Amino acid sequence: MVEPIRRSTREERERWLKEAHYNLFMLRADQVYIDLLTDSGTGAMSDRQWSALMMGDESYAGARSFFRLKDTVERLTGFEYFIPTHQGRAAENVLFSHLVKEGDYVPGNSHFDTTKGHIESRKAHAVDCTVDEALDTQLEVPFKGNVDIAKLEKVLEEHNDRVPFIIVTVTNNTAGGQPVSLENLRQVRRVGDKWGKRVILDSARFAENAYFIKTREEGQGDRTIREIVREMFDLADGMTMSAKKDGIVNMGGFIATRHEDWYEGAKRFCIPFEGYLTYGGMNGRDMEALAVGLEENTEYDNLHTRIHQVEYLAGLLDDFGIPYQRPAGGHAIFVDATRVLTHVPREEFPAQTLAAQLYLEGGIRGCEIGYLLADRDPVTRENRFYGLDLLRLAIPRRVYTDNHMNVIAVALKNLFDRRESITRGLRIVWEAELLRHFTVQLAPAVD
Ligand SMILES: *Cc1c(COP(=O)(O)O)cnc(C)c1O
Repeated sequence: MVEPIRRSTREERERWLKEAHYNLFMLRADQVYIDLLTDSGTGAMSDRQWSALMMGDESYAGARSFFRLKDTVERLTGFEYFIPTHQGRAAENVLFSHLVKEGDYVPGNSHFDTTKGHIESRKAHAVDCTVDEALDTQLEVPFKGNVDIAKLEKVLEEHNDRVPFIIVTVTNNTAGGQPVSLENLRQVRRVGDKWGKRVILDSARFAENAYFIKTREEGQGDRTIREIVREMFDLADGMTMSAKKDGIVNMGGFIATRHEDWYEGAKRFCIPFEGYLTYGGMNGRDMEALAVGLEENTEYDNLHTRIHQVEYLAGLLDDFGIPYQRPAGGHAIFVDATRVLTHVPREEFPAQTLAAQLYLEGGIRGCEIGYLLADRDPVTRENRFYGLDLLRLAIPRRVYTDNHMNVIAVALKNLFDRRESITRGLRIVWEAELLRHFTVQLAPAVD
């Protein structure tokens, strides 16, 4: 779909931002010129997907559209058991209701926030075993999303009988859309086999991950995306999927697995939480569009066009010397705000300040992945300033042109050129106890 866009004046944006309490989630979409808040559910469907919608079978039970999607998933992943859900977090909710118990430990590579939420809300622990390289934004290594095998072994040595499974997120969203190598997935498999643990892939961006394996990992260049995808899933026992990312649909998700006992366990929670087993949380027409989206997005050319656009934006930032998490990931550029707004104290949230400034500059909406998102320590109630403070510019699939990338890069450059003059950031006026970044109210931190 092509949508009309509306330009605005700086005066208008200043008023709107103030009304939104300097929280970009609270802007109306009409007040945004280029929307880089997320790549989730914001992709443009293709002609084939739109026509597939017309073929939806909306039967309550046994719909043709369910079997079409199930067959597509099985062909791509080898997983025979399949449960559709309304989005990724619903897949987590259904499967984890069966698998995660109070006091458990779930090791993985930077759990996504909803994944972590579904683990912690069951009074279990999400243990981050990502490689340390991910914390240095300027380090140029190909697979910064990898699991640190020594950290994983340590969790198993200490808590073996309390570990229900290992979860690997491909690509590693939280670390900057960074991929996991096939070699690393093999190592995780070996550790899993050694300790008798199954492995789940949190698969929202599995196709982009396969693209990086093809283009960055030794010996993989001649294989097709689908061959690599199949090997990734051959190394796992099951998957949770947010179809809003690499499925290129606006809403949808699923669970798939090779194990009947997991399917039987999850089934019991699907029916009360989501819906009957052959639609879960989805319409027949949406399952049709997703089947097509999965086919299209496991083609090299489609992935190359998308990831090349993210690289194109990264190249422009390189020309201007603007620091971001290197190398560029699959779905977004993560600008290293503490290296840009060096005069803004961390207590005044540099990444959120940069997000607000970029909106004022060009009507561009990014998303803070930093100190606000990190929430406060549950015990001390202090802000957690020890991670990265990044401004994420997520690029929706098949929506913007390279000319939009030029506008984004130049707007950032204008800010970068006067970064020394930005000395004050934002202060919190009101915040929720958990997941505060969605609803926080802020004000300029002037004395
Ligand atoms: C988006 C996402 C989820 C959650 O999916 P929703 O569709 O937003 O509920 C889980 N894991 C990863 C890695 C994601 O990117």
